[in-house]
Amino acid sequence: MEDMKPTFPINDSSQPKRNIAVRVTENAETMIRKHHPWIFDQSITYQSHAGEAGDLAVIFDSQRKFLALGLWDPDSVIRIRILQFSKPAEIDQDWFSAKIQAAYTLRDVLYAQHTDGYRLVFGENDGLPGLVIDRYAAVFVIKIYSAAWVRYLGWIAECLHNMFSYRSLVIRLSRNIAEKVEEAYGIRDGAVLDGEPVAERVLFRENGLTFEADPIRGHKTGFYLDQRENRARVERLAAGKSVLNVFSYNGGFSLYGARGKAKAVTSVDLNPLALESARRNFAYNLDTPGIKACQHETVVADAFAYLQKEASNQGKFDLVILDPPMFAQNQSQIDRAIATYQNLTRLGLGVLNPGGVLVQASCSSRVSSADFYDAIYAAVQRMGRKIHEIERTGHPLDHPVNFPEGAYLKCLFARIE
Ligand code: SAH
Repeated sequence: MEDMKPTFPINDSSQPKRNIAVRVTENAETMIRKHHPWIFDQSITYQSHAGEAGDLAVIFDSQRKFLALGLWDPDSVIRIRILQFSKPAEIDQDWFSAKIQAAYTLRDVLYAQHTDGYRLVFGENDGLPGLVIDRYAAVFVIKIYSAAWVRYLGWIAECLHNMFSYRSLVIRLSRNIAEKVEEAYGIRDGAVLDGEPVAERVLFRENGLTFEADPIRGHKTGFYLDQRENRARVERLAAGKSVLNVFSYNGGFSLYGARGKAKAVTSVDLNPLALESARRNFAYNLDTPGIKACQHETVVADAFAYLQKEASNQGKFDLVILDPPMFAQNQSQIDRAIATYQNLTRLGLGVLNPGGVLVQASCSSRVSSADFYDAIYAAVQRMGRKIHEIERTGHPLDHPVNFPEGAYLKCLFARIE
């Protein structure tokens, strides 16, 4: 494996291209000085020539001094994603290598925790806007949110290869660019860019537990890496409890609950394939004492219908986890999303024993954490129950937040009388 090198010639950035010179509105200039990484199409007041996806755009201020440089994307309302602020730099393989190295260093406490599944690069928040790199043991997954990145994949692959000698490198494309990237560059979502073919089930470790991910077809890049720290919190709260994990996907929270010596764990999801994966995840970890002893049940059901039915059957649990998918896709859906969070709290409480623990998460970036927590509180109060907060949590170490739009995850841990 040592002498395996990326072989695909996607990187045409060796071809000299003319940088686009750009000027922007005063407001945008202020945002750039605050190191905000996005320039919207409407903020651009001058551009030297049309440019193609992946060209470098150099932004000058009103005094014609260098402000920033970034990746040009004529097909996105985010017209420029800024790579470099304040002083010019050569954007070459060394530049990318330094960024990836810095991101790796930031996460180094993870590596001692028997964890080799994590987000190595979290886009804007690691200074690489529109680029995500996730690792599952020897399989690396690049996810791009702009076609501007295609030109730089060769360099990034080479950096990753030099740092990690990966076994396989997979590319995932955000939905809105998938068609265009396939047409223009012949790169399909889920393609293996380099290395060995990827099995449907890639095993990796998270806090000493073995999980499988499907990097080619799975949600996100195959696993909800962002819930690692919340799962560990559930482990610490689970001893002796009967745990209900709603929207369980492949059982992440369920395994931690079991390792934390939960008496029984029920995983509920609409997707039978996710629950099959959850059962395999339990099977991989049978040598872990709590997991072997725990009764794990999987239920294919709509979460709302399940909770309603269990409440009328007097089904009761000591710890209820509610980690639904994103509810608000756009601005107009925010109110409905908040109402749905409230409804879920109400339904969750319907199956929670007095004194039990509620764990409720939101991954909707458009719903503010204040609105989310208010929604839970309102629902609890309306039911005449009393809430004792244990903890409010945000992002894990490998999903740092360095610009306002980067924050999406929030979670409440609370004991409910
Ligand atoms: N908690 C998971 C991630 C949840 S992702 C983890 O830690 O890995 C959201 C999950 O909700 C998906 O698996 C999806 O299949 C499921 N889902 C979406 N709508 C649902 C519904 N109405 N009822 C039950 N499950 C649903």
